[in-house]
Order: sequence, then C-alpha cells, then structure tokens
Amino acid sequence: MTRIPIELRTEALEQLLVERGLVDPKVMDAYIKMYEKDVGPLNGARVVAKAWTDPEYKARLLDDGTAAVAELGFKGPQGEHLVVVENTDEVHNVVVCTLCSCYPWPLLGLPPSWYKDPAYRARVVREPRTVLAEMGLEVPADRRIEVWDSSSEARFFVLPRRPEGTEDHTEEQLVALVARDTMVGVAEVRA
Ligand code: FE
Repeated sequence: MTRIPIELRTEALEQLLVERGLVDPKVMDAYIKMYEKDVGPLNGARVVAKAWTDPEYKARLLDDGTAAVAELGFKGPQGEHLVVVENTDEVHNVVVCTLCSCYPWPLLGLPPSWYKDPAYRARVVREPRTVLAEMGLEVPADRRIEVWDSSSEARFFVLPRRPEGTEDHTEEQLVALVARDTMVGVAEVRA
C-alpha cells in the first residue's frame, strides 16, 4: 500500500467534508485558532501546580484525570479519558501516540511537530533512554522509563516531579516553572 503523507490525507478529508456540507470551514478555522492561541500548556501547568500543593487534589487527579481537570474548568475535545501518570524517583514517564498524534488538547493545546514526527513515534517506544538523551534529558540508569501510548481510549499526561528548592514557592510561582515538554515527559521541571 502506498503511504500518503498525513497532511495530504487530512486535507483531502477536510475538502470532502466541506464539499458535502458536513463541516463549515469557518467553524473549523475558529477551532484551530482557539487551540493555537487560547488553549495551551498553561492549563496543564495549573493542574501540575495544584497537584503539587494539594495532596487531596493530586489523589483525585491520579484516580480520574478527566474529572479532576474539569474541576479547574478544563475539558473539551481530546480531553476525554485523560490518564495522569506520576513521575517519581523510581520511574520516569514519557508519552507518545504511535498511531497518529493523540494529545490532551485542553491541557496542552496542539501537539508540537516533533510529537507528530514518525521518527519520535517509532523510536521512543524502542529506545526511550536514547531518544530522551537526544532531546536533552538524561535519565539515570536506576530510574525506570515507562512509555505510554496515547489513543482515543486513553490520553496520557505526565505529572512531573516537583523540583527541590521550591518548598516556599506559591502555586502561581510553581505554575511559571512548568513547561509543556515536562508534561509530555521529554523534560524535567527545573527550579
Ligand atoms: Fe493518535
């Protein structure tokens, strides 16, 4: 079977839906703009900072991610079936979608291009330690790496470790430390 690039397939599909009157291109453009401009990793950072400062919230978040982020007002497409995995001193978690580009939009916005790159999707499963090192994250040999494959059934989100030296930080100060890549698991939060 010939593999047609996903961008072309998406475009063809979009054109078909528009032609048949099933989708209004203006509505679609508005959606894309919203996820590019208004919804972004700041939402995820708020969830992380809240989990770091409120143990009961953290327990709810790990138990039912979708419900816990909805408490903060975050929901919508690709936010269903959210599963939060916690980084600890023993385990480092990293997220991929091997099939396409499933990603928790309401918390992180649209995925970066490297997340959609076939090389990342294939290699991070086979050799996560090497791929993470290439991306600037050295995971010590005594820390296990877990790779989570997102899909329509479960969209994974990493709760990174709270860095040392942030004990006196307010929730707002913590929010500012948490960048997108730490919630996908290809970076760590630094104080
Ligand atoms: Fe996907």
